[in-house]
Amino acid sequence: MGGRKRKKVVRRLRKTIPKIFACPNCGEKTLGIDIDRETNEATIKCGRCQIEDVVKISNVEQAVDAYGKFVDKYYNGDKAVIKNEESGDVSESKDQ
Ligand SMILES: [Zn+2]
Repeated sequence: MGGRKRKKVVRRLRKTIPKIFACPNCGEKTLGIDIDRETNEATIKCGRCQIEDVVKISNVEQAVDAYGKFVDKYYNGDKAVIKNEESGDVSESKDQ
């Protein structure tokens, strides 16, 4: 017994959690999630279709959890706000 060199370093792989997810609305991998640790709110925004939402997460939850909540919400019909800022093209004519 003894004399066994045991150099086992438990290396904690700090996983880089991707913050870009597939957008449920447009299907592109352009959904960015930004977490505010002060309020524990995740702001979700797609760079392609501009779908945008904010979900509450807990201290231990990550972007991926926020994404799950967002997708849930999305498919539950509680659609996020879609901002259409592409152009000032208002199809509603308001001339009277
Ligand atoms: Zn999208």
